[in-house]
Amino acid sequence: MATDKKVTKVSGGGNAPRQTFVPTAEAKGKASQHRLYAAILWVLAVVAQIGAMIILFKKDPEVALSTGTRIALIAILLVDLVFLIAGSWFWKKANRFDPASKKETLKFFFQNQLGVVVAVIAFLPVVILAFIKKEFLVGAIAALFMIGGGLASADWSPPSQEEYAAQSTLVQDLMGTDNVFWTKSGSKYHLYDDCQYLKSDRTTEIFEGGTVADAYANNSKIKPEMSSLCSACEKRAAKAKGWTNEQLQEAKDKAVNAIQKTVEE
Ligand SMILES: [Zn+2]
Repeated sequence: MATDKKVTKVSGGGNAPRQTFVPTAEAKGKASQHRLYAAILWVLAVVAQIGAMIILFKKDPEVALSTGTRIALIAILLVDLVFLIAGSWFWKKANRFDPASKKETLKFFFQNQLGVVVAVIAFLPVVILAFIKKEFLVGAIAALFMIGGGLASADWSPPSQEEYAAQSTLVQDLMGTDNVFWTKSGSKYHLYDDCQYLKSDRTTEIFEGGTVADAYANNSKIKPEMSSLCSACEKRAAKAKGWTNEQLQEAKDKAVNAIQKTVEE
């Protein structure tokens, strides 16, 4: 039925899934800030690598390095590693403020795993040069740092706009509004601030409130997936709504299907 009146959607009313996630201006700003820190740290990692390469360039392949120079080289590589991992930490945090969309597969992959690419850039040249110069110990250590740094830089549970939207939808279906609670170190988010699991943590931890997206942005231990919603809170909310287990499952399926639908579009 057509109407020229302004239609205001009341949250908790219909069951229309909110299909897209748009970060707030504040979250966007924080993401940009974290990405800048990541870029600076990654550049410093490459600078450290160049320092190590300058020492290796000057080396005669047939003459062994002194122990002191070798230790200095390994120390420089360690600095390279620390800058790499610190940069990746900021990068991954930025993605939690402003996640990529699964719709763009390639962008989604590179945005979340950029730290792995940087690990190769920050170590592979020095690995190759060390082996050319027959400095095998340093080369092997650099290779280990590249692998270790790469593994530490990978995002093993990458956030996506679709996952954020799906969980926000489910929380709104259950509670009427996207407002959740989490602790500094817990790996779940909660619908009630007096949840039994929060009570046991309350003495030692400060817990915070905000949207599902805020929970992900502020606690990297919470994996961006359906199972991160506290099961006790989920059951309690479903019971409060008078839902059966089947109805709860239906609401969850609907939220998940909404992701698939957006991705396939
Ligand atoms: Zn809970």
